[in-house]
Amino acid sequence: MAYTVEPPAEGRRITYDEGSGELRVPNNPVIPIIYGDGIGTDVGPAARRVLDAAAEATGRRVAWMRVYAGEAARDWYGENLPSETVDAIREHRVAIKGPLTTPVGSGFRSLNVALRQTLDLYANVRPTYHLDGVPSPVKHPEHMDMVTFRENTEDVYAGIEWEAGTDGAEELRRFVEEELGCTGVIHDGPVGVGLKPITEFGTKRLVREAIDYALEHGRDTVTLVHKGNIMKYTEGAFRDWGYEVAEREYGDEVITEDTLWEERDGELPAEAVVVNDRLADNMLQQVLTRTENYDVLATPNLNGDYLSDACGAQVGGLGVAPGANFGEGRCLAEPVHGSAPKYAGQDKVNPTALILSGRIMLDFLGWSDAADLVRDGVEATIQDRTVTYDLHRNIDGGEKVSTSEFAELVAEKIRGMG
Ligand code: NAP
Repeated sequence: MAYTVEPPAEGRRITYDEGSGELRVPNNPVIPIIYGDGIGTDVGPAARRVLDAAAEATGRRVAWMRVYAGEAARDWYGENLPSETVDAIREHRVAIKGPLTTPVGSGFRSLNVALRQTLDLYANVRPTYHLDGVPSPVKHPEHMDMVTFRENTEDVYAGIEWEAGTDGAEELRRFVEEELGCTGVIHDGPVGVGLKPITEFGTKRLVREAIDYALEHGRDTVTLVHKGNIMKYTEGAFRDWGYEVAEREYGDEVITEDTLWEERDGELPAEAVVVNDRLADNMLQQVLTRTENYDVLATPNLNGDYLSDACGAQVGGLGVAPGANFGEGRCLAEPVHGSAPKYAGQDKVNPTALILSGRIMLDFLGWSDAADLVRDGVEATIQDRTVTYDLHRNIDGGEKVSTSEFAELVAEKIRGMG
């Protein structure tokens, strides 16, 4: 049966002025929400409850428009990513989603990646910060305060790959060996092949976002994280184009690390952002051993995925790690975690990651007062030691609560603060 989702009548549409780059947000915006697969049906309603409380406490109301992808969409529409869902997110500009399951090896391609590519959400932004009271495996979790800007549309995630034994894989092998003369590199026998496109366009618009963010938020550094020593013409190019943006487009507002030492003896000019670069493998230890030295990270797609999970582990793990995807006048908030199928429907997991993803969305709407309430409400609830199983196992003497109970406690805190 065909199923058509209508925008709620009580809401108004968010619009975007391309000329000025301004988002126009009514007090009752229509916001599409995908609960998602697995634990999505637990954390989705929980996050909604908290975001509603924050909106109401600041004199607004979100008109939620529930849309479907993944398993729920297969039930309704017979397909994983119905065009109706993509259109709703495109038209309403700001949306939030829970996790969607992606089968490994065979089956359909990632719906998350498809959504990001279709809507050209080119920057996946993952802020990693410590909330007081969240247990951590490191001595000073409060030192962690980084924001990862991960390129979201290319790299090995572009989906240009061929399965071993297919004509595509064999044709590419022949082309590489015979036309390009790269012989003796690919072993004989079945080979799976993928391409890793990194473009000047994709790199530069991502790095601009990272630098703009650093300037707007008074951050000290932007670090380009790459593996350019090995992948010279992809990750190395990411580094070079990143520096080119910094040097050519930002004048005195930005200074590169080399210039800082060569011309200024390490003396930092007032209020300038320093752009530096680090190799990705080194960076995975730097975020642990020199946490305080880093602020904003700009990375190709794969590095950013690894790095943001590693950063998140220092401040509470996947249950509390938020994120959002940004494009031109667009935001699709989503947590870092996946659908954790083994916990699906148990009202058990931590909804904080999706709640704090919602906080990013509220900030994007210009509702920073509501966004602050969300953060403060979550933090106050965790400080009370009323936490879900994941944090409870590392807290002495706390009270273990369910997903929905945690959300209600946060909403109560917000109502008390508003
Ligand atoms: P996952 O779903 O993130 O779960 C891995 C582990 O992280 C869980 O077993 C749990 O650890 C912990 N965890 C995740 N979310 C949590 C939460 N809200 N509260 C508390 N703990 C949480 O990763 P996965 O098992 O590798 O992936 C499952 C599926 O999700 C795959 O199909 C994958 O493709 C998909 N995925 C989707 C997205 C997305 O939609 N953007 C992102 C990543 C993965 P413990 O059991 O140790 O407590």
